[in-house]
Amino acid sequence: MTGSGARRSRYETRQRRAVLAELEQAAQFLSVQALHARMTGAGQKVALSTVYRALRYYTEAGQATAVLGPNGERRYRRADAQGGYLVCRRCTETVPIDLRVVLAWAASVAAERAFSRVAVVVFVTGVCRRCALSTSARSLARVDSDTV
Ligand SMILES: [Zn+2]
Repeated sequence: MTGSGARRSRYETRQRRAVLAELEQAAQFLSVQALHARMTGAGQKVALSTVYRALRYYTEAGQATAVLGPNGERRYRRADAQGGYLVCRRCTETVPIDLRVVLAWAASVAAERAFSRVAVVVFVTGVCRRCALSTSARSLARVDSDTV
């Protein structure tokens, strides 16, 4: 029994690593379903529940980062030790940002308080151009219907 348990554990570990590798290639935050679809679309055999468990495991381990998408669902991305992202609150479009100024500030703040092994992850949220345009188009349509 312990033998099959160990086999199952190794199998799950391999699948977890595959989930992390796929997440690393993603250019933006992905839902569990989107990540699962990417993996199965590439011919990998992995259960949706395994992707869920792997993402929860890596988020707790600090290797993945979760944000809430527009419908309240979690979306994930590989966490960088030093990473900066501009994230749209509506569609979760993600753009990497230059953190040099923040990193210099963080290093001096940490040194003042004798902290070492400092990691910096910065999320700046806003509304992307596409979402802002679709919102203003809806507002204009409302104004038009009010004035007619
Ligand atoms: Zn957007």
